[in-house]
Amino acid sequence: MIDRDQVEWSNLQRQWLFDEADAREGQLKAVAAARQLVKANSSIVYEPVVADIDARNIEEHLEGVDLVVDATDNFETRYLLNDYCVDLGLPWVYGAAVGSYGLAFAILPGEGPCLRCVYPESPKGAQPTCETAGVLNTITGQVGFWQASLAMKLLGGEKPASVLTTFDTWEGKTRQVAVERDAACPCCGARNFEFLDGRRRAPVSLCGRDAVQIHERQGRLDLAALEKELAGLGSAKRNEFALRFVPAEKVGGLALEVTIFPDGRAIIKGTTDPALARSVYARYVGR
Ligand SMILES: [Zn+2]
Repeated sequence: MIDRDQVEWSNLQRQWLFDEADAREGQLKAVAAARQLVKANSSIVYEPVVADIDARNIEEHLEGVDLVVDATDNFETRYLLNDYCVDLGLPWVYGAAVGSYGLAFAILPGEGPCLRCVYPESPKGAQPTCETAGVLNTITGQVGFWQASLAMKLLGGEKPASVLTTFDTWEGKTRQVAVERDAACPCCGARNFEFLDGRRRAPVSLCGRDAVQIHERQGRLDLAALEKELAGLGSAKRNEFALRFVPAEKVGGLALEVTIFPDGRAIIKGTTDPALARSVYARYVGR
């Protein structure tokens, strides 16, 4: 289970693996999920990974898996998963939800369409997002259940049909639409894996949150050493997964909180301005 984020209060309405204590502590989602799941079934080995999947680390994190289930929140990461899985011939299950609407389908490289056969480019313009439209608490469950069914079929050796299933859990409507391979697909047709090529990622504003994620530097960070450096500049607390730093001074008039991960990534909370977040990163992390 790979996740880059911390549990937020606004997640609790639609997430069953987290509770109020997790939100209060800003617990890492992958860690909180594993702790809850092991209580339900301790005979399974859960491996929480706190990371932001990108072109630089996808191979390290997904090497040797049999199946990928997508529970991400952006097209850029899904296209990266699609590139990786098509390249290796690995099945994966796409799923998404916004408002009361959601959809899912199983992608079997070489047998049926890939994500870019269906969505060649990420939807542009005034699309509803989880920020503007919210997410109804029941739709994530409905999409997740169907993704889990597709995952079990695939692991059991069945090949689900190339069908996109859509749900509207407010209206109670379910539709299935056959989808086909596109011979002109840039990914599974031309095998042009542009998301896997390793272009640097820009800072991203995190959906539904007053926060920006920055991942500017290569290589691992020594969080213990950084904790010592930052201790004089504010409050710095570290555990095995992350370092949380609250600067003593306001930055740009804002009270910010910086969570720094060993892979060099940071989430700057309290702003949605990428330029400010970048300067905060440079000041406290990227020295
Ligand atoms: Zn394709």
